[in-house]
Amino acid sequence: MPFLRCTAVVFAAAAVSGGACAQSRPAPPGVSAETTVAIADSPFRIVTHTSGQGSAHRSPRPGTRRAPAALPAPADRRTPLVVINVHDDENTSMEAALIALARVPARITEVKHTGARNLSIRRGAETFTVDPNRIFTDAGAALSLTRLSRMDTAMLRDVRAFADTLLVLAGAADATTIVTLHNNTDANYSARSYLPGAEYAADAAAVHLTPGSDPDDFFFVTDRLLYDALVAERFNVVLQHPETVTDDGSLSVLAARRGQRYANVEAQHGHTEVQRRMIEALVRVLNAQR
Ligand SMILES: [Zn+2]
Repeated sequence: MPFLRCTAVVFAAAAVSGGACAQSRPAPPGVSAETTVAIADSPFRIVTHTSGQGSAHRSPRPGTRRAPAALPAPADRRTPLVVINVHDDENTSMEAALIALARVPARITEVKHTGARNLSIRRGAETFTVDPNRIFTDAGAALSLTRLSRMDTAMLRDVRAFADTLLVLAGAADATTIVTLHNNTDANYSARSYLPGAEYAADAAAVHLTPGSDPDDFFFVTDRLLYDALVAERFNVVLQHPETVTDDGSLSVLAARRGQRYANVEAQHGHTEVQRRMIEALVRVLNAQR
């Protein structure tokens, strides 16, 4: 199907507005919706899976599909949990989420294109590159364009519009809580990256490492109560510093500015089982804090 330019689209209950161009088409079975959103000449697919019996308002059928006691559905069933995966090469996290959240009312949104981490954006003969988790603030998006290709004012505007559209489609624009899913590789970025003296020390107000655990598997949160609860569950947890965090355009930075509670569930590629348990624990903790 040829990609069509457009100015706005109505997606489920959320109206998309702003400068981004979006094109909806029917979703395959098991996927609630798929929207194509263009940046310049490049289309990107935003796929949203709706879990928890397909509707947050519907009661479980008697004797079936009821959430097990260990994994209660959110107390407020009118508000599905907002979950976002922006890196297309971090598939372990999506596998884990679709299992962990199968019976939890949730809206799980992923950005899909080439299977690569970064977005490659064609505009005429030129290709720009940007990290989709560095586009949620103006400063961060400009820095990411500069680092990965080059800064361009029109491209910055288009990338920022894409970010806004993504948040609307994900239901994150006005959500109380935003959960993100990421994967990392062994021995690079981990919870240790936030320890005093490490690369991202200034971004963290607190770091908890559980003895004997893999520091690649950790939560990164913006909320002290959430931090404490996840530490009590014996996970590795990093608390974002509210003042000294670097404005790198991450969704965690935007969420903190907007007063939204944010939790990134970060695990090593292939640690599907660990990441599934982390997501289940996060749901328990969030339910307890509602
Ligand atoms: Zn990621």
